[in-house]
Amino acid sequence: MTESERTGMISRRNLILRAGAGMLAASIASTLLQAKEAKAANLEPISQITPDDALKKLMDGNQRYIDQKRTFTDQSRSRIVEVAQAQHPFATILACSDSRVAPEIIFDQGLGDLFDIRVAGNFLDDGVLGNMEYAALELGVPLLVIMGHERCGAVKAALDGKAVPGHIGTLVAAIKPAVDATKNQLGDAWDNAVRANVKMNVNKLKSASPILAEAVKAGKLKVVGARYDLDSGKVEIIA
Ligand SMILES: [Zn+2]
Repeated sequence: MTESERTGMISRRNLILRAGAGMLAASIASTLLQAKEAKAANLEPISQITPDDALKKLMDGNQRYIDQKRTFTDQSRSRIVEVAQAQHPFATILACSDSRVAPEIIFDQGLGDLFDIRVAGNFLDDGVLGNMEYAALELGVPLLVIMGHERCGAVKAALDGKAVPGHIGTLVAAIKPAVDATKNQLGDAWDNAVRANVKMNVNKLKSASPILAEAVKAGKLKVVGARYDLDSGKVEIIA
């Protein structure tokens, strides 16, 4: 092969590579456009389920989980296809990051059913509120559950009050008001703080987010506080 033949081959290969890249870019642009259209379609108020029915659906799922009769609902291949272009979750769950309180498992729900927000100690901050407002406004989710759990490590850290490294202090500081509010209460100090943390965040939500407060007032959104029992698997509504 002469030098000019070799150069010609390389240029042809470059041309083919460039054409391939162009096709890939066009394909990405088309996918993005489809995603944008799906998102736009999703901005309609979509949820047909009432807040009370949403709560019943959630609690029925928890009962199936307790009874070890999980249906593994909506986790099929057809469900993947069904929710691929748009989501219509019926509940927003603010839960702890704790590995034992995964909402889809303990409520026996599937893909596209729950809008999960998880942060150790399940407390509100601006980011969490933004997630909640997005779910209520953009997705029309009719139910919002703030769920703490038994023997929460983040609550224990706030209860112990010891110095913690790095950014962990942010969690501790956010949970400290619940510890302070319950320090003279009788009973289990740890569980009292878990419960108070849920109740205080449910109350805080109404003042911290006028958008969510308005949705509650209009009957479009129900907000409840819950506690998950690690021993029994039961979710108890406490606020
Ligand atoms: Zn926890």
